[in-house]
Amino acid sequence: MKKLIASLLAGILMLGGLTGCSGTSAVSSANTSAASAASQEGSENISIVCTNFPEYDFARQIAGDCADITMLLKPGAESHSFEPTPQDIITIQNSDLFIYVGGDSDEWVANILDSMDRGTMTVFKLMDCVNLVEEELSEGMQAEAEEADEGEEEGPEMDEHVWTSPANAMQIVQDLSDTLCKIDPGNQETYQANTKAYLVELQSLDDAFREVISSAARKEIIVGDRFPFRYFCEEFGLTYYAAFPGCSTDTEADPATVAFLIDQVKEDKIPVVFHIELSNEEMCDSICEATGARSQLLNAVHNVSDEDFKNGVTYIDLMNHNVDVLREALN
Ligand SMILES: [Zn+2]
Repeated sequence: MKKLIASLLAGILMLGGLTGCSGTSAVSSANTSAASAASQEGSENISIVCTNFPEYDFARQIAGDCADITMLLKPGAESHSFEPTPQDIITIQNSDLFIYVGGDSDEWVANILDSMDRGTMTVFKLMDCVNLVEEELSEGMQAEAEEADEGEEEGPEMDEHVWTSPANAMQIVQDLSDTLCKIDPGNQETYQANTKAYLVELQSLDDAFREVISSAARKEIIVGDRFPFRYFCEEFGLTYYAAFPGCSTDTEADPATVAFLIDQVKEDKIPVVFHIELSNEEMCDSICEATGARSQLLNAVHNVSDEDFKNGVTYIDLMNHNVDVLREALN
């Protein structure tokens, strides 16, 4: 626990370059340790509760030391099977701002919000910020077993992985910043300055992807795993083949799916096959074994490992890794 607190503090201190928090909170000023203010009970900071890592990181980049930010998902945990504990529900209820995605993975949110006395809590939903696309069953992809049965009743499902495109991330960050300014006008200048600086970084990330993809020999990726990159591929004009849609709960590979992807890799002479983060990588490995392609991580940034969380790794760090591996994969 001590270790965790120390690394959280380190993480917060790493944000030292950001504009200091100077509004409503009497304890936190440019000279005071931001960390002590943020971790003390009775801090006048607003409290933000997030469901997953992208939300957590976006909030952290905008709010710096002006907010106490909690991520409900434990670092290293699978995000699609998350279920809130009674304590999580109390944490949400006590927050000033609750951030969630709004898709299949956090369907539990709607029920909880309905049954909750929300008081002055503001709710921010990522899927309200951007134009949505449907989850897609591309050629060769394995349909999710339970959905094949229920599909007709439920209709098309919108893809929840909105943050995987940097352009969407910029839109979300701007909306989130505007929301924070409304909730906590005393720190408006800090939020706006942090947002301005962060949007420059996100724009550079977007530029880096564009540079790699526009000069690439191929515009096709193969993901031997779940496929949470619809928004990303749409944004950058990449075609793809993958094993499972969005974040299907199936990870047991159908031999026909594996065979299809192996053929595709051979036919298009694909040098790299991707798996996503916190995956068992089994399917990707079998495709690589059969074809001689290299296995690489394409990070969809649902969550980070415990170690990365302690080290203060960011959305931009993880996406920069994607820039590097795409350079290799599209060659
Ligand atoms: Zn997902």
